[in-house]
Amino acid sequence: MSGASVKVAVRVRPFNSRELGKESKCIIQMQGNSTSILNPKNPKEPAKSFSFDYSYWSHTSPDDPCFASQSRVYNDIGKEMLEHAFEGYNVCIFAYGQTGAGKSYTMMGKQEETQAGIIPQLCEELFEKINCNNNDEVSFSVEVSYMEIYCERVRDLLNPKNKGNLRVREHPLLGPYVEDLSKLAVTSYTDIADLMDAGNKARTVAATNMNETSSRSHAVFTIVFTQRRLDIETNLSTEKVSKISLVDLAGSERADSTGAKGTRLKEGANINKSLTTLGKVISALAEVSKKKKKSDFIPYRDSVLTWLLRENLGGNSRTAMVAALSPADINYDETLSTLRYADRAK
Ligand code: ADP
Repeated sequence: MSGASVKVAVRVRPFNSRELGKESKCIIQMQGNSTSILNPKNPKEPAKSFSFDYSYWSHTSPDDPCFASQSRVYNDIGKEMLEHAFEGYNVCIFAYGQTGAGKSYTMMGKQEETQAGIIPQLCEELFEKINCNNNDEVSFSVEVSYMEIYCERVRDLLNPKNKGNLRVREHPLLGPYVEDLSKLAVTSYTDIADLMDAGNKARTVAATNMNETSSRSHAVFTIVFTQRRLDIETNLSTEKVSKISLVDLAGSERADSTGAKGTRLKEGANINKSLTTLGKVISALAEVSKKKKKSDFIPYRDSVLTWLLRENLGGNSRTAMVAALSPADINYDETLSTLRYADRAK
C-alpha cells in the first residue's frame, strides 16, 4: 500500500431487470484500473475518467478476463486487510453506493458458496489461519459484535431483545464504544456464520417493524481479534488486539433525488450527514498522509458512524473502500456522485 491510508475499488454490478426493461445503456467503461463514465444526457461531452486501485467489471460474462468474481474481490482487498489485522493493525472495509448498486452483495454476498462476500470469506480465512497455527506460544481469541446505526442511533443486531437504542460513550484509554453492545466470543467459522445470519435477520425484522428499509441504516460488523504471545522463559505474555470493522453503508442516494418529505427527509439528512462526514474524515486522513503531516483536524465527532470507527480509520489502521456502481444510463447522476466520493477518498 502506498502512503495513502485508503485503498479504493469500484465495482459495477450487472444490469438489473428494471434497467433491462428500460433498455438502459451501459455508461461505464473500464480499462486497467481506470474507470470512465459517459454522460447520457450529453453524448458529445467527453467521458469523465477516474483511476482507482481496482476497477471491477461484472456485467459481462464470467469468462471475461476483467470479470471480478467474489473471490477475486476478496483476494485483492479482504486478504490484504486480514494480513494487516494479523500484523496488529485495526482495519476497516466499507461499501459505499446507491441502494441496489451491490454493497450487500460485495460485503455479505449470497448463501451459495461461490457468491459469499468479503465478510464471510474473511471470517473463514481468519479461522483457517488460526487453526494452522502450530506455535504453542501464541494463542488467539475472537469476539464479534454486529450493530446498526440508523438516524444517529445504535441498535444491537446480536441481541434483538434489546430493542432500545444503545448509548455511545468514550473510554479514556480505548476511545469511543457502544455501552451494552453484545460482544460474543466465537471459536469457529460456523459460530460466526450463525451470528451473521441471526444479525441479518434481526436487521430485516427491525427495519420492517419501524417501517424502514435496511438500506437506510449502516450495518457495522466488528471482529475483535486478540493474539497473545507467552514467553515461556519469562512467563510474560504480550497481547496484540486488532479491531476489524466491516461496514455496509446506507444507500447514498440524495434525499432530493427521491422526492423525500417529512421523516424520510430527516432520515436522508442524517444518512447524508454520516456519509458526508465519513467522506470528510477519509479525505482529511488522506491529506494528512500525503503531506506527511502528523496531525490535522479530523471531524470524527460529527457523526456516530465516524466517531465509532475512529480507531479503525485513523492512526494505527488500514482502510479499504468498495464503491458499488450501477452500469445503467438511468443512474448517471448517482453513479457520478459515487465515483466522485470514491475519488476524494484516495
Ligand atoms: P445494495 O446493498 O447496494 O442495496 P445489493 O447488494 O442488494 O445492493 O444488490 C442489488 C442486487 O444486485 C442483488 O440482487 C444482488 O444480488 C445483485 N448484485 C449486486 N452486485 C452484483 C454483482 N457484482 N454480481 C452479481 N449480482 C450482483
